[in-house]
Amino acid sequence: MSKRISILGSTGSIGRQSLEVIAACGMTAAALTAHSNSRLLEEQCRQFHPEAAVMMDEGAAADLRVRLADTDIRVLSGMDGLIEAATLPSADTVLTAVVGMVGLRPTLAAIQAGKRIAFANKETLVCAGELVMRAAREQGAEILPVDSEHSALFQSLEGCRDRGEVKRLILTCSGGPFYGKKASELQNMTRKEALQRPNWSMGAKITVDSATLMNKGLEFIEAMHLYHMPPEKISIVIHRESIIHSLVEYCDNAMIAQLGTPDMRLPIQYALTWPSRAPGPARPLDLWDCGPLTFGRPDLETFRCLDLALKAARRGGTAGAILNGANEAAVALFLADKIGFLDIADRVEGAMEQVPVVETPSLEDVLQADQAAREAVWHSAV
Ligand code: NAD
Ligand code: MG
Repeated sequence: MSKRISILGSTGSIGRQSLEVIAACGMTAAALTAHSNSRLLEEQCRQFHPEAAVMMDEGAAADLRVRLADTDIRVLSGMDGLIEAATLPSADTVLTAVVGMVGLRPTLAAIQAGKRIAFANKETLVCAGELVMRAAREQGAEILPVDSEHSALFQSLEGCRDRGEVKRLILTCSGGPFYGKKASELQNMTRKEALQRPNWSMGAKITVDSATLMNKGLEFIEAMHLYHMPPEKISIVIHRESIIHSLVEYCDNAMIAQLGTPDMRLPIQYALTWPSRAPGPARPLDLWDCGPLTFGRPDLETFRCLDLALKAARRGGTAGAILNGANEAAVALFLADKIGFLDIADRVEGAMEQVPVVETPSLEDVLQADQAAREAVWHSAV
């Protein structure tokens, strides 16, 4: 069982829940990192006594140094600090809970350093899944999914002795806060309405991704890389209740699923304790009380971001990096009230049409595709 964890993005939704799991399971923190919330990182440092604390923002790092002056915690900053946190010799596991493809370089560094990766930062796999999975294979690094759907797939695949027997991976999707609506009703959706949280409590970016269904598209690409599956062997089913977290269909038509309350602490904990299980803080599921479970088809016409992601999945190469870079840029504009809800899909589509795809990309190709896609979104005339 892993014991000493570095959490990249410890002040976020996944990061905070990871610390609850660590405390409940008697594990320790080697490093904690955050973007700019030095007050919360100080609080976490005083509770968990990591060896190092990293602020991405230089000004916030200076502030944290003052706040932690009475401790022996090393305060680092920027991408170099993040990479140092990802490679600390005393950590056995790195939990990647930063949002966005900023997690790519620290993840690759953690793999090179032979760490187990508890993987939440899906954007990294969407951008550079082949590079990351190849590096993990070469280094023999274990990649354990934190995303609830991928954890469910992982658990449903555990009894599988021959991957050739898998017919299909089925990702469940809550449908998001705008489920059942048509494009005309989404035209004037505001930031506030998009940030309503149906079943899960999450950071702002992934909450918008859940409203556009881009999140499911990113998860589709994530599943392709994690489980080495072609796009035609993955499907998506709407399941409003978020009780079945995903399923595997085998060649004899048996379906194996994992069920639980919508509580991220369960998949987080399993990524840290695997191959063992342990009692933990996740809420139990009461089958007498959870009500009926329903299933339906996703509406790709209304939720165009999902359709665009499926196109990128089939296209391969740097298409994932273009999709993701464009989406990160467009969601940031939406969160800043600069563009409307439906503009997100328009901007992503524009970037996908504009930026050429490179087959079998290097890290440099991925970074360039990401940048070109962001610029296409920023300078879009739409
Ligand atoms: P969040 O916005 O709540 O937290 C993000 C964390 O990353 C914070 O600690 C923040 O300080 C840090 N961060 C943000 N920008 C950064 C930057 N440029 N450089 C360095 N650090 C930065 O996000 P979240 O909801 O916790 O999601 C984190 C990741 O986990 C995302 O990739 C998301 O898709 C994935 N995920 C989240 C959930 C969920 O339930 N929240 C579920 C599955 C997967
Ligand atoms: Mg998920």
